Amino acid sequence: MSEKIWTTQNTEWNKELQNCRLCPLECGANRLSGAGACGVTGLSVAKYYLHPFEEPCISFRKGSGTIFFTGCNLRCPFCQNYEVSRAKRGKVVTPNELADIFKELEDMGAENISLVTPSHLVPYLVQAFRIYKPKIPVVYNTGSYEKIETLARIDEYVDIYLPDVKFYSPTLSKRYLGRADYFDVASQAVAFMAKKPLCMTKEGKMLSGTIVRHLVMPLCANDSKQILRWFKNELPETTYLSLMSQYTPFGNIDSFPELARKVTAREYDNVLNEAFALGIGNLFAQERDSADKAYIPEWDF
Ligand code: SF4
Repeated sequence: MSEKIWTTQNTEWNKELQNCRLCPLECGANRLSGAGACGVTGLSVAKYYLHPFEEPCISFRKGSGTIFFTGCNLRCPFCQNYEVSRAKRGKVVTPNELADIFKELEDMGAENISLVTPSHLVPYLVQAFRIYKPKIPVVYNTGSYEKIETLARIDEYVDIYLPDVKFYSPTLSKRYLGRADYFDVASQAVAFMAKKPLCMTKEGKMLSGTIVRHLVMPLCANDSKQILRWFKNELPETTYLSLMSQYTPFGNIDSFPELARKVTAREYDNVLNEAFALGIGNLFAQERDSADKAYIPEWDF
């Protein structure tokens, strides 16, 4: 990956990036001279393309214009995008160049622009949106370890939130994400996102709203059920749930032998039946054959 460091054109933001507290890690890195705990300095893109395999209301007919950004503030050992989240792949771009990527994806027929793992890049993204606001919906696809103040800065440019809620139990989130406070932080961030009004076309394409994703993990069905109960009890009825079965052993999981297998049909159905029992109506379920490395993208840069 290029070592070029690009500053924003906003001096206030540059000051802020010299002591970065954009995400709950608040690591205080000087992003203008080196990487923070999220692994990156400036804006870096690993891939952009039309993604055909998101939820039907997101990929819809022509695919979601997905942009994978380099770096992440979570360190999930099982990350399916490991090379990108650990900042090993990617090309540094300016906000102007990112705005050109928005236009290119629009010209390719993208149903929306989907920003994957964007929270550590919010000042750069806001700058790109000020240069060019896409005419199609903008999707914010996040691991949910987010500060509400940071979300509030980009909210006016976001139409659809796609937060992934990973673990309920502090013990599990400490083990797998290194953060015991994950659910406390994520649940507040998702409550903010879920205020986005729901708007679907007659044909079933989402124009605005929130879809909470949850990936069922091996040996974690009871934790998944806790997340479903929170979803049902705390979030507006307009919120969608996407219950994913696609966990595939990947990344750096040697220290986690329990993660060396896919989720069984019994585990997934156990959680899915809880969703039915709770009466969650706005629900996407996933075919189990989605759990395949063939669904993991090849990186461009
Ligand atoms: S966004 Fe990155 S540099 Fe900023 S506080 Fe979070 S981990 Fe640290």
